[in-house]
Amino acid sequence: MSEVIGVVGAGTMGNGIAQVAARAGYKAILHDVRDEFVERGFAAIDKNLQRDVDKERISADEKQRIVGRIHGTTDLTSLTQATFVIEAVVEDLAVKTEVFKLLDKLTPGDAILASNTSSISITKLGAATSRPEKVIGMHFMNPVPVMKLVEVIRGIATSDETYERVRTLSEKLDKIALDCQDSPGFVSNRVLMPMINEAIFTLYEGVATRESIDGIMKLGMNHPMGPLTLADFIGLDVCLAIMNVLYEGLGDPKYRPCPLLKRYVDAGWLGRKSGRGFYEY
Ligand code: NAD
Repeated sequence: MSEVIGVVGAGTMGNGIAQVAARAGYKAILHDVRDEFVERGFAAIDKNLQRDVDKERISADEKQRIVGRIHGTTDLTSLTQATFVIEAVVEDLAVKTEVFKLLDKLTPGDAILASNTSSISITKLGAATSRPEKVIGMHFMNPVPVMKLVEVIRGIATSDETYERVRTLSEKLDKIALDCQDSPGFVSNRVLMPMINEAIFTLYEGVATRESIDGIMKLGMNHPMGPLTLADFIGLDVCLAIMNVLYEGLGDPKYRPCPLLKRYVDAGWLGRKSGRGFYEY
């Protein structure tokens, strides 16, 4: 079926998702709570697509057509037209639960409600709706237009039909969907975040400098980016939130967030987006 893609949250991930949906030919509705946030989302999309024009991957006309397929709005009722919604608001259970309740009321009964959450339980989000069988995790990676993976998370009630529609859409978006069960941090962050947290511990304990830690992991493990650089890129607040989900959800002290990570977040040193994290930008 041809989906109309609703995207809730026009931030880093949301604008990337709207861009890839529109580029694949879908009509997309991009929602955020304030006009300036919607505009910021469009500015990011414009900048990204302009790079593709400059590199002659798409024509200027094609860029205009892609942008033209995205409708920006601050009015959630615009999503009554959506057949497939991807939520990408802040990583906060209370905020996401409220969004899912509203989406459940507003969207057609057979619309899929997917979340781009990095760590929040899909089963919990499903329980906030009257259609848990249509609620699923669709975890895109950052930057969305570049990264191939979509980690698909099945909640306890998610139906096979919903999973198939997500797989079909992922393929149309030129992504590769790999699935897992609903468990704290899923697979990606269950494995990645403790590594980042451990890197922060090595810095905290004075085991090595930031440059050494990142250099050792880059050169030694062939990682494209060192863990501290990656943490700055993801956002230290996001990293801390995910460590807390692992710590509380799995109940194992090995997931304890590093005190240095907490201190940086307290200071508002959130990484790239705030101009300072483990590095200065
Ligand atoms: P962000 O802060 O860049 O964007 C979030 C946007 O949501 C903001 O523009 C905010 O105004 C908007 N928002 C907040 N409450 C809203 C509401 N009630 N209705 C509509 N919009 C609302 O965050 P992000 O990095 O894009 O992350 C979004 C989601 O994607 C989170 O769940 C995060 O865990 C997940 N995620 C992030 C990354 C990453 O690397 N940044 C990667 C994968 C998944």
